[in-house]
This record gives sequence, structure tokens and C-alpha cells, in this order.
Amino acid sequence: MPTSRPRLDQLEMRGNFISRHIGPNPQQIKEMLAELGLNELEDIIEQAIPADILTQEPLKLTETVSENAVIKHLRKMRERNKVFTSMIGMGYYDTTMPAVIKRNVLENPGWYTAYTPYQAEVSQGRLEALLNFQQMIMDLTGMALANASLLDEATAAAEAMTMSRRLSKSAANSIFVDQDCHPQTIAVVKTRARSLGYEVIIADPHTELEQHDFFALLVQYPGSRGEIKDISRLTATAHTKSALVTVAADLLSLVLLKPPAEFGTDIVVGNSQRFGVPMGYGGPHAAFFATRDDYKRSVPGRIIGVSKDSRGQVALRMALQTREQHIRRDKATSNICTSQVLLAVIAGFYAIYHGAEGLRLIAGRVHRYTQILAIGISRLGHKIVSECYFDTIIIHTPNRAKRFIARAAEANINLRLIDADHLGIALDETTTRANLRELWQVFASATADLPDINALDASIGECIPEQLLRTDEILQHPVFALYHSETEMMRYMRRLARRDIALDRSMIPLGSCTMKLNAATEMQTISYHEFNALHPFAPLYQTHGYQQMFAELEDMLCDLTGFDAFSLQPNAGSQGEYTGLLVIRKYHEVAGQAQRNICLIPASAHGTNPASATMAGLKVVVVACDENGNVSLDDLRAKVADYQNTLAALMITYPSTHGVYEQSFREICDIIHQHGGQVYLDGANFNALVGISRPGKIGADVAHLNLHKTFCIPHGGGGPGVGPIGVGAHLAPFLPDHPVVEGINPARGEHGTIGTVSAAPWGSASILTISWAYIAMMGAAGLKQATLTAILNANYIARRLAPYYPILYTGKNGWVAHECIIDCHDFKKTCNITVEDIAKRLIDFGFHAPTVSFPVADTLMIEPTESENKVEIDRFCAALIAIREEIKAIETGSAGAENNVLHNAPHTHRLLLQEWTLPYSRQQAFFPDGNQHDDKYWPPVGRIDNVYGDRHVICTCPPLSDYE
Ligand SMILES: *Cc1c(COP(=O)(O)O)cnc(C)c1O
Repeated sequence: MPTSRPRLDQLEMRGNFISRHIGPNPQQIKEMLAELGLNELEDIIEQAIPADILTQEPLKLTETVSENAVIKHLRKMRERNKVFTSMIGMGYYDTTMPAVIKRNVLENPGWYTAYTPYQAEVSQGRLEALLNFQQMIMDLTGMALANASLLDEATAAAEAMTMSRRLSKSAANSIFVDQDCHPQTIAVVKTRARSLGYEVIIADPHTELEQHDFFALLVQYPGSRGEIKDISRLTATAHTKSALVTVAADLLSLVLLKPPAEFGTDIVVGNSQRFGVPMGYGGPHAAFFATRDDYKRSVPGRIIGVSKDSRGQVALRMALQTREQHIRRDKATSNICTSQVLLAVIAGFYAIYHGAEGLRLIAGRVHRYTQILAIGISRLGHKIVSECYFDTIIIHTPNRAKRFIARAAEANINLRLIDADHLGIALDETTTRANLRELWQVFASATADLPDINALDASIGECIPEQLLRTDEILQHPVFALYHSETEMMRYMRRLARRDIALDRSMIPLGSCTMKLNAATEMQTISYHEFNALHPFAPLYQTHGYQQMFAELEDMLCDLTGFDAFSLQPNAGSQGEYTGLLVIRKYHEVAGQAQRNICLIPASAHGTNPASATMAGLKVVVVACDENGNVSLDDLRAKVADYQNTLAALMITYPSTHGVYEQSFREICDIIHQHGGQVYLDGANFNALVGISRPGKIGADVAHLNLHKTFCIPHGGGGPGVGPIGVGAHLAPFLPDHPVVEGINPARGEHGTIGTVSAAPWGSASILTISWAYIAMMGAAGLKQATLTAILNANYIARRLAPYYPILYTGKNGWVAHECIIDCHDFKKTCNITVEDIAKRLIDFGFHAPTVSFPVADTLMIEPTESENKVEIDRFCAALIAIREEIKAIETGSAGAENNVLHNAPHTHRLLLQEWTLPYSRQQAFFPDGNQHDDKYWPPVGRIDNVYGDRHVICTCPPLSDYE
């Protein structure tokens, strides 16, 4: 027997997920440690991290759980969810995601691991997909312009309110909200209005509009209860009062109905969920926002626009970026950063897959079934209240609404309870003839004969009056006609995906964004039917699996952060910031300190911080940073003294956006607390703290986490995200609640909560399983190891690049945290090379650029994460070093000052079609690292002209001829 025979317990070691998630193998870790003069990973703690922030107590988290065990646990959990046919409506409808989209987009890392398309040249695929989404929204709403998604319908309505305030000339301080809006939309608008000091009038605009003054009107179309009404009189009245009109519209109904634009509407918002995106117990889905062309500079969120590249070829990129929080900060149009790109892409593909004709069939069928259902129910002796409807009807059942809902539940169908006497039924794309019979059975007496579907169909007319029906053509752009066979569809999706650099191609070293592995086992969880198919307002007894998962995830996050309670409701980091600040404001109010309205924010903060503070009704005061990039304690002391009685909060990012562990975090928190303020921690950099430090125990009162950074939810090309907030016990009573699902904040007390910040009770519930699976599979030890490896990787990069590029900031012992900033501002002076040139030249090497000019102009911020191994990191460093040599050649005059590899980057294949006149070789242009890769990345377009695009804003699909 060979002596090397392993022991049984070694053989029993099942799939070790930690070693799959963490990129470098033990040998590589040893080499990198040696480069930094250390022996053990644990030595990093002593070396790099301030002692007073370290956690002493061990985590309660279990040790690592194998992938198989996690899958089994999740199976048990999801079996505790009961999937009923949900006919509740209220903005959420069952739908069928075409399998070709599920397999090629939702489950394809080429789409879901991409980053927000800031580097447009390596993002042309998803930019085109988003342009298609915008075109679809413009077509269906009739509006001239649409953005590329917002977080959900309710927050989109709240954004419409603030945009109306900016644009309206009305002196009124109120928004008039149609009482027939979805209750969650009303709730979110109320929360937002309260923090900004606006009044909300909730009433029936058809009878009460004249007697009020307001700057904005919000109407649901069709109404939440299904009724379709002509709103042209309302818009005319609102306009005489100088108010802007927002219509919250249902996308599928617009296939048949007169588009809101024809009523004179100013803004149209809504949810694109029912275009192929599962309900997912509330999200994620892409909301849309469409408006008039005149208002394009005021639109929240991202807009994809058409421009041209350096050779005049059509190229896409994000337009009008100067409206956004990263530039305008507290004056930004909105705090939205991460949005819902992947879901918008899916909804756009759904429209492409079905085309105008297919959508007309779907909408027509849903509508016809609804009519047949309604007549059938009235034949069975019940009164249908609805007169003019698309897919939702209200039934009058005196004192028996609850009883019929219970009977429907026996048939595994959820209906909407309106009040003791009324219930609602909403149909969708998946409704069948069998469903109609089941419903009739619910409403029929024991002896009644059920109606005959075909006979009813032959006897009914159209309930929607002609003037409310659509007469124009929709989706006439060629893209909506070209890809109806699955073969064509599959190839189109692949064609787009291969234009982009996502994590399935190479590392994306984006500082502050933590582009780490999104493991297949984690991702698998979002395809489970029992998680996907639940309506967010399904009765709680059907959602025990979800409730268990939320509770377990909240426990895990409390354990890791040292906080006492979590709210999973915020849909992105920016929303977590807004929510956390509202919680702080409420805390001060309840303590009789309502005058506290100053929010201190260091100059280095992410743009969402000041934008969120403004949205929360706080006044932003900037705190300076010192020459080492740390918060200036002198300036902080001066500012807290200035605002003794009005200090509400400090928002601080830790480790800082400068990529270092400041030494004085605890002292800073103490200063704030001594002056009556609360500490808000921006937890975007939590990947540098997991398992080694707990913010809730070292001075933070509130923090948001970006689950799409630290906890493995993929970026989806710019969303979805999840931004839960953790709070200390003193703030827990104020965490969000929900108007439809009760009891989501168990700590709620007599003073009430801040209200509701997302449409769905638990925000983007269905993707929380990803983070749950990650934490479960890593366990306490794995998470700590990940953090230390992330720090090791960043410091190894800093060490390797330091001889070539100055490292802008370092902390203790010259170490950085989990990211490092390299300073490129000198090259502007020495040879007119910008940080932009370096970013674009990296594309020729097959890399996505690091974060450009944030938080410091003319720098690159590099964050490798723990998932990248030494080979990839070395390849990346070699590229940056090679670029430094290319810069040197320009500096010394051996390469041209104008016509050089950096200015001309990225180099596209089109250059090969012309005679080679460039003053360097093709080898250097296309294969600068010396290898002739079989899988070289070829950028589809050259350097994009942003200025041109912003001067000639075009946000529609270009005519097909432009692509030929
Ligand atoms: C990413 C990020 C945010 C914003 O989070 P979103 O999820 O994109 O809204 C805020 N602060 C910092 C430091 C970030 O890196």
C-alpha cells in the first residue's frame, strides 16, 4: 500500500467552495505574501488594519457548508413556499420568460457579470439592448424619450414627483395623487414627499381636481382597480394650474390602449416586470421612466444615447451624464446609481422576441379572457363593478369577499381583497381557459352550470370605448421584426454579448465596485420556480420559505456587521443611504430634536451620499480631507462646533473611498456622538471588513451594504442591486414598513416608522438567495480569508505598480486596504496623456479599465477582489506597466506626441481594412502584450465622442441602415 494514501476524513472533504471562490491558490498566496514581506495571510491584520477596529468575539456563523449541502438546504427552504396562481394584480403579474432569453441572458454570465456601461467601447452589446428597451418604452407610452430603467414603479413615481417640482412653475406645495394608484406607489410617494416637505392630496382626480392647487398630478392608467378612464380632461386641468402630469401605466395594456402621451401627459412611469421577468416575490424588475424631449436634462437615471466613434461610425454610450449624482452631487437630478439593467435587457428582449404582432396576441388574449371571466361571473349571479377594463375586474360580493378569497385559495388561486364587500381579479399572460373555469367554480353555487367559454366569446363585444383604443402602430423599428425565430434570437443575443467585456472574459478591476465572482451555485438559486413565482402580496402562509431565508440572512448580516436589525427593503446602495438617513431624521424627531438637519460628508464621498442626503431633506456640509486622504479631524471639529445644535449625521465610507483604513475612525464617531449626531456608514467597501471588523460595534449607527458588491449579487451590467441597511437597536423601531404586507418591521413602536421606500416589502427578494448562499458556503473562516485575500491582492498590485505609477494614498505601514489609487495626473503635463487614454488603451490588452477619476480626478482606482488569481493580476499589472513604457516613449519623443498608441486606442478591426499608415506596428496596436491570442478581444467601435452625443441627443434606435 502506498504510504501517501489519504485518510478517510480527507477523502470525505466535500466540494470546498472557499477554494473555488478565492482566486489565488496557496502557492500563489505564499508568493504574493513573500513579495510583501509576510509569511501568513493572518499577518495582514497586524500589518494593515488599525487594531482598534478589529473584532474580538468570534462570529456566530457556522463553518463553511459545502455546495451540495447548501443546495439541499435551499431545496427544503423553497419547498416551504407554496406557489399559487396569483391573480392579485396591483402591478405584479405572472409572465412567461421565453426559455431562449432565460438560457442566453438570465443564466449567461456574459450578460449578468457585466458592469455599468461607463466604458462604452466595451459595452456596445448591452448598450444596444438598453436602447431597444428605451425604444420599446417610447413606442408603448408614446413619449419622445425614455430612460434605461429605474428601480421600481413606486420609486419611479417618486422621482416623477421631484422632477415635476423642479420643472413646474406652480407655487403650490402639493402633489395630487389619484386614490386609485397602487397602494405601494402612494406609500413611497408619501415617504419621499414627507422628507422634502410636500403635501400629498390623495383623492379622486375625476371629481376633486379643480378645487386643489398642486405642482404634480399622479394618475394610474388603468387604475389599480382596473378601470380605464379618459384622462385628457385631467391633464388639461392640471396644466392650467402649471402642474406636470405623471401617468403610472401598465405596459401590456398599452399594447391595446391609447398611449398616455395622447392625453397630454408629461411623464409616464411603470414596471416592465410583466414583459418576461418573474415576479420574484417583489423583484428585481426594471421600472421605466418616459417623458417629453424638452425635459431630457431633468430625467433621473441613465439614458442611452447614440453618438459616433473616432472614425465617425455609429456608437452608443450613456448620454447627459452631467445630470447625475457622481457629477452634480447634492444638486443631482436623483441619487440613482445602480439601476435595473439586466431586467431592462430581458424586458427589451421579450418585446423583440414577440414583436408587435406577438404582443397584440398576448394583450388581446388577456383582455378577452378577462371579459369572458367577467360575463361568466355575472351570469353566476354576482355584480361586476368594473365597466371599462383591460385585465382587472372588481366584483361586488356583499360581506362575502373574504369567503370567496378563501374559496379561491382552496383552488390554489390568490385574489385581491379590496374590502369586506369587494374583491379584485387580475389576469395575465399565463391565464388559461382552465383558470377561468376554476374561478367560475369559486363563484358558482353547488347546482349552477358553468358558462361555456366559446359561447360567451361569440356573444361579447368590446368594453373599451373606441376613443380609448390605440390606433397607431407600435414597435415598427426593424429590431422588433428581425428575430422571431429562436435561431435568429439566439444569435442576436450572442452577437451582442460578445461585444462586451464582462467577468467571463477578464478581470474587471473597478475600485469601489467589488467585481468578484458570482458563483454558479449562488446564481442557480434565482432560477428556482418556488422563489420566482410568488406574488409580493401573496399571503404570508404561502411564503414560509422566503420568511426563513430573510430571517437567516438578516441574522448573518447582523452577525457580520454587529448591528441589531436589518431592513432588506432598499433596492440599491443609494436607496439604503436615503433610508438610513430617514431613520436618523426620525430618531432625532422622536427625541424632540427635529431641528437637526445638517449632514456632514467628507469631500471624498461617493456622489450618491450628498444626493441621498438632499433627498432625505438634509443640508449637506462638506468636510475636508487632509493631504493623506483622511477626513481632516481639524475641519471635522470645526464643523461640529459650527453646527452644535443642528448636526444630524455624518456619512462616512470605511475603509474610505481613498482605499485606506483611516486610523481615527473611532475618534471620528466619538466626536459626532458627543455633538448629538448619528454616524451613517457607507458600506460599499465592506469587502475590506467582512469577518475582521464590525461597524456596528465600533461607532456606526447605520450602514448600508451593497449586496451586489460584497455579497456576490452580480452587477447585471448596471443592476439589479440590493442595499439593505443595518441599524443599532435604538434605530430599529423606525425601519421601513409596507402598506400591503403588515408586520415587516417587528420592532415598530408607538412613534411609527419612516414609511415605505420600495414598492415591494422586501425589495428585490428573489436575488437575496444569492447572498444567502455565498455566506452559507463561505462560513466564518472563508469570509475572513476572502477579506484578507482581497487586501493581499490589492497590496500586491500596489507593490508591483509603485515603481511605475505613484500610489496616491496609503495607510498604516504603507499598506492600502482592498483597493489602490494610482495617480496619472502627471502624464497630462509631461506628454498630454490623460487617464482616459490609459483606460482606452487597456481595452487593446483585453481589459476593462479600473474606476476612472473617482474619487480623485486623473487617477485610476484598482480593486482586484479576492476572486482574481495571481496569473490574472500579473497579466493586468504587466499591461499597465507596458502602457507606462508606451507613455515614456511619448515623453522621450520616440513616439509621436499626437499620433500614438494611447491617443488612438482602442484599435478596432476596421483599421485592418485600410492601408496601414500608423507610426507603430499592427503587432503593437492589436497584440501589445506580445502574445497572438486566439481569443483576442476586438472592440467593436473606436474611441467614442461623448461631446458630439450630448450636443445631438438621440435616444432612439438608429435606422437599420446605420448598422448595415
Ligand atoms: C457603489 C457605491 C455607492 C452606491 O451604491 P448603488 O448600489 O450603486 O446605489 C455608494 N457609495 C459608494 C462608495 C459606492 O462604491
